[in-house]
Amino acid sequence: MIGAMMIDAHGRKINYLRLSVTDRCNLRCRYCMPADGVRLVPHGEILTYEELFLIARTAVALGIEKIRVTGGEPLLRKEVLGFLSRLAGIPGLRQLVLTTNGLLLEEMAESLKSAGVQRLNISIDSLDPRNFQRITRRGDLSRVLAGIDAAERAGFPIKLNMVVMRGVNDHEVVDFAALTLNKAYTVRFIEFMPSGTEEGDWRSHVVPGQEILDRIGKKHPFDEMDRRELAGPAKDYRIRGAAGTIGVITPISGHFCGDCNRIRITASGMARGCLFSREEMDLKPLLREDGAPGLEKALLGIVRFKPDKHRLGEDDPGKRPLGMSRVGG
Ligand code: SAM
Ligand code: SF4
Repeated sequence: MIGAMMIDAHGRKINYLRLSVTDRCNLRCRYCMPADGVRLVPHGEILTYEELFLIARTAVALGIEKIRVTGGEPLLRKEVLGFLSRLAGIPGLRQLVLTTNGLLLEEMAESLKSAGVQRLNISIDSLDPRNFQRITRRGDLSRVLAGIDAAERAGFPIKLNMVVMRGVNDHEVVDFAALTLNKAYTVRFIEFMPSGTEEGDWRSHVVPGQEILDRIGKKHPFDEMDRRELAGPAKDYRIRGAAGTIGVITPISGHFCGDCNRIRITASGMARGCLFSREEMDLKPLLREDGAPGLEKALLGIVRFKPDKHRLGEDDPGKRPLGMSRVGG
């Protein structure tokens, strides 16, 4: 089945799977979960590596070309390296990438490289240790910085994701952009999305992508870059003369749904066509009773019924938790 392709009802080619391997995390980022954490899924409901692997292999056979392993914090799950190297060996999978908060990277970067992970996205929302602590409620910035260094030494291209929140870290946007001046880093600015954990009106925390770019442009003029195949929803730019690039992801101010190529599966086997959709399909019964044929049908169903666009702002989802740490962002 290598070479298969999944096209949804709106003509989009779906070739990207975000696969969460755990809902556990060693941080409590304000924009992602409440201070006392989220209610964790009981261990028995978390998919085994065997089950996650079956999903991944089936998805690739149907046309998935890129898998992003996420969480919770994916590096917290025991024996994740063995799982990753099995994923890397799936015939037809072109890209295996991972999103991490970087806390465990210092110890794990080299092994991740050997396991076959091609790229890492490292989430970091402040360059100021106190602000970093405030945002993550417990994080030690120096560990993330050491993790970034280790990832660089291991040969990973460095991509940093910053969730921009008005009044929280938006004053650091230009400093983050400046990280690309001398290093070939990619820095991505993500508009804050409502997750149900924020205080007050979520809209007041959103800094639109255009405003982020305007602030950077005042200090560092930049040029837009071409969009690459299998790229995510970011628009990328290069500050003139810079070694690296910057990008903005604008789920709120700019609908990128027309280009959306992804589906998501949580660590407990709930499949979703859209991050913001309430509709999920439980793959566990299929995995535990029906096996591969049922799974294939279910994945095709998720693709077929993928919504044309998200409805954020139309039915005020800020009132209802989206569960970023469960779905994997
Ligand atoms: N723990 C890992 C990490 O933080 O990179 C992986 C899981 S995390 C849920 C995946 C991504 O979702 C991170 O880049 C995080 O910044 C992003 N994210 C979480 N909540 C968000 C929110 N409310 N708005 C925008 N991005 C969010
Ligand atoms: Fe954990 Fe990532 Fe959520 Fe932060 S964004 S709490 S690191 S899952």
